[in-house]
Amino acid sequence: MKKMFVTLSLIIALLGTTCLPLMTAQAQTCTHDWSDWVVEEEATCTTTGTQTRTCSQCGAEQTQTIAATGHTWGEWDVDEDPTCTEAGSEYRWCENCDAEQTRTVAVTGHNWGKWKTKKKATTMQAGKKVRECKYCDATQKKKIAKKKMTASMKKAKKVANDYMKAAKAYDVNKMNSLFANKKCSTGYPTSVVDGYLKKYNKKYLKWKFVDVKKDGKIYKVKMKVTRPDMYNNFYKAVDDTLTWYLGMSLFYSEPSKSALFQKYNANLVKYLKKFAKKSKKTDTTTITLKIKKTKKGWKIVKKTKAIVDIACGYANAGMDAAYDEWD
Ligand SMILES: [Zn+2]
Ligand SMILES: [Zn+2]
Ligand SMILES: [Zn+2]
Repeated sequence: MKKMFVTLSLIIALLGTTCLPLMTAQAQTCTHDWSDWVVEEEATCTTTGTQTRTCSQCGAEQTQTIAATGHTWGEWDVDEDPTCTEAGSEYRWCENCDAEQTRTVAVTGHNWGKWKTKKKATTMQAGKKVRECKYCDATQKKKIAKKKMTASMKKAKKVANDYMKAAKAYDVNKMNSLFANKKCSTGYPTSVVDGYLKKYNKKYLKWKFVDVKKDGKIYKVKMKVTRPDMYNNFYKAVDDTLTWYLGMSLFYSEPSKSALFQKYNANLVKYLKKFAKKSKKTDTTTITLKIKKTKKGWKIVKKTKAIVDIACGYANAGMDAAYDEWD
């Protein structure tokens, strides 16, 4: 029995020496039976929180950081609508805190309508087109390139220029030579009115080309012309002379070289001088010369009243009106 006790003690001792270190190792490598995480401090949108758990076996404790949640943004709300030229703004709130975000809303830019021609391009000047924004007052302008002139157009324009130069110098022969029909006469060139027309055409006659267009075989040269306005002077001179002359009947029955006719002319001159002193008036009009190529070169096709008026400072019209009244 004693022997058995000894053996048992030995076994226990042996167990003790082998088992004790074994138990210590077991404590060091605890597989842990963790509790659920317990939140110590809640995370917010912007700050971290903490949570801990404890091992039910060894009492070990673990602490862990809970990541910040970040904001939970609501929908964007427009604060100010963008316009064609200015950015707008919009904002949103965090559903969990006071945080607010704003951002710009890009400019919309203009919404252009169709280009509309404001001024047609001619051979003389560029045109202009305009478009408007559908949403605001903005407009855009664009040049329309000047139309090109053909060699024929240039020739027609030269004839028109030659005519105007001759009219300014009151060179009647030159003016007449530029018409296609030789029978065309520029108008008065009478000795009575020559001097006046020479003087005032030289002083006031100006022209500016507006356009040259081709219409079949005809070239239309459009000009803006400023001419001396002699209408009233000539009207009054003729009217007063005829008053003195006791009307047209006598005038018509008189041979043109008679002493009485000469006297009429002299009287007309007297009145013209009187009225011409007041001639500081000009008149601006637009006329179109029709020009074409003939066997004798480039010529003005038709003489019109307007053309004669240019050459004669609108004087013929004034004289004609006075004669008409007496007729
Ligand atoms: Zn444990
Ligand atoms: Zn938030
Ligand atoms: Zn706009």
